[in-house]
Amino acid sequence: MKIIFATNNQHKVDEIRSALPENFSIISLKEAGITIDIPEPHDTLQENAAEKARTIHQLTKTNCFSEDTGLEVYSLNNEPGVHSARYAGEEKSFDKNIEKLLSKLEDSSERSARFRTVICLVLEGEEYFFEGICEGRIINEKRGEQGFGYDPIFIPTGSGKTFAEMSMDEKNSFSHRKKTTDKLVVFLNNYKTD
Ligand code: IMP
Repeated sequence: MKIIFATNNQHKVDEIRSALPENFSIISLKEAGITIDIPEPHDTLQENAAEKARTIHQLTKTNCFSEDTGLEVYSLNNEPGVHSARYAGEEKSFDKNIEKLLSKLEDSSERSARFRTVICLVLEGEEYFFEGICEGRIINEKRGEQGFGYDPIFIPTGSGKTFAEMSMDEKNSFSHRKKTTDKLVVFLNNYKTD
């Protein structure tokens, strides 16, 4: 099955590819020759994921999926949440977003947080949603060089390392994105055999 992954984020493409079984292949927007910046105008991950998948489906008439992810810090009322990418402004700077989050959490001992991913799949014109969560906590300063976004300050429950200190396979053993992708794969496997 030909399926487009509607994102311009190469980190997400790499992570989802590494999370997929060998019999699944996806086409990134770049590989499909699509260069548009897909809007994320809504207040929920679900609506943003749907907007991205619908936009690409209308453009290509091809089965596709998209994902939207947010970091939800409980003591900050689930901030930055759906605004994770632009938390410190339109430039979408990973460093500035982290700086802003750490300054908001300064002196706070309640640092529990979770990543939440929502995938929207548009398959033969129908929409399907999948969600995956990774619980953890925010540390006081950055550690590690791998990954992207808030990875250097997030330690998943059950590990002593930040996501940025992990290989992709290690991150996959905890991550919100991998859990959501697994649900997508189970669905697609069952769909094909129907
Ligand atoms: P979006 O899903 O493209 O809107 O991404 C939201 C933002 O959340 C990204 O720009 C990153 O800053 C952050 N983010 C998404 N997924 C991850 C992840 O797996 N680790 C760290 N940060 C992430």
